[in-house]
Amino acid sequence: MKKIIFIVSVVWIALVGTSFLWAYSTAKKDHESIAFQTARSFFDQIILTREWNALHGGVYVPVTKSTQPNPYLDVPLREIKVNQELMLTKVNPAFMTRQIAEIASKYKGTHFHITSLRPIRPENRPTAREKKALQLFEKGKREIGEYIGKGSESSFFYMAPLKVKKVCLQCHARQGYKEGDIRGGISVTLPFPAEVPLMALIIGHIGIGLAGIFGIIIFGKRLNRAYETIRQQSVTDDLTDIPNRRSFSEIISREFNRCRRDKAPFSVIMCDIDRFKDYNDNYGHAVGDECLKKVAQRIAKTLNRPGDFCARYGGEEFVVILPDTTHKGALHVAEKIRMNVQELRIDHKKSTNLGIVTISLGVAVADENTLISQEELIRRSDTALYTAKAKGRNCVEVFNEICIPTEDRGNADTLNCS
Ligand code: GH3
Ligand code: MG
Ligand code: MG
Repeated sequence: MKKIIFIVSVVWIALVGTSFLWAYSTAKKDHESIAFQTARSFFDQIILTREWNALHGGVYVPVTKSTQPNPYLDVPLREIKVNQELMLTKVNPAFMTRQIAEIASKYKGTHFHITSLRPIRPENRPTAREKKALQLFEKGKREIGEYIGKGSESSFFYMAPLKVKKVCLQCHARQGYKEGDIRGGISVTLPFPAEVPLMALIIGHIGIGLAGIFGIIIFGKRLNRAYETIRQQSVTDDLTDIPNRRSFSEIISREFNRCRRDKAPFSVIMCDIDRFKDYNDNYGHAVGDECLKKVAQRIAKTLNRPGDFCARYGGEEFVVILPDTTHKGALHVAEKIRMNVQELRIDHKKSTNLGIVTISLGVAVADENTLISQEELIRRSDTALYTAKAKGRNCVEVFNEICIPTEDRGNADTLNCS
């Protein structure tokens, strides 16, 4: 059972581990997807704002210290003097994007960069990463998103192309662009760390893993107890609480073969309560059951050696196995059993002349001189028992070749075989 608990625990840990890896990779993908969507939204927002600006052919704003006329904007009426105090200058989409980018980087740490492979303004020259992206856009790529930098310092870089629209041609037609051409791109860099919140995942999975192992151990122990109880029940006789016939069959095979290998003697004692039918008839079946229990327990208690074993063979018959035991030893044990049962002094008026419950016993031995099979050994102990019955009961008989075979037991009460 310990092995099963161990295997189930290993499978459980493997499952939790797999779940962790799956959750981690999903979290990583989700994290990147959120970064991608966020950056794309920023980009779309800028495009909308630019379109609005382009729709008006640029918008006029007051000239201030920070908003000086755009030297790269070569259009008529770039400045309009309203009065002595107010001078307006035209802000085109590019200039507007630059100004929004400056504000964004100041407050949010988010960077926009409008760029092109053929920039009008030198500051709009692409970085190496942007240049690579612009080249990919020209080959048909629609957008790019990737983490740059490492750990908590990393950011998410997004870039998509700026395509020439009709409104753009007002200013950009002279650069040779046509509608639909890729004029450049805008990159968006978000302060978005690549790391997913690993700690919560680890703690969560360790918790689930430990709870599972705890459950497996508790459940495994309960299952083990239940299994032990069932196993015990399957080899124990219900009534007498000593091993049953099935258990006897297992043990005798094992021990008989071991003694045969070790060239050791092996004895069997067959015991039978005398005139038990009369006992039942006289005292009733329930009292008969009680008697059976007491006799069985007394036989079991008489056995001392660890290898000695007794079982209920059937009805009011019991069998005793004595590995490594010679004739002499087996006879001694059988006599002890007989005496101990007699000492119970259970009333049995119709039994032998003692008026108490007694048993008869038959002993048979297999050793180096008597190389017989296990079945023959049992048959011999049964024959010896039959002889004991024939001799008047409440006695021990050792198997003797001249005893009559078991099949002829019908005349047991009249047999005289010694
Ligand atoms: P013998 O001295 O020759 O062995 O006579 P006996 O009456 O003991 O032998 P017999 O085989 O004729 O009877 C055995 C009786 O054992 C018959 C049956 O009623 C009784 N018996 C068998 N199993 C049980 C049991 O589980 N409980 C009770 N109360 N009686 C049982
Ligand atoms: Mg019997
Ligand atoms: Mg009997």
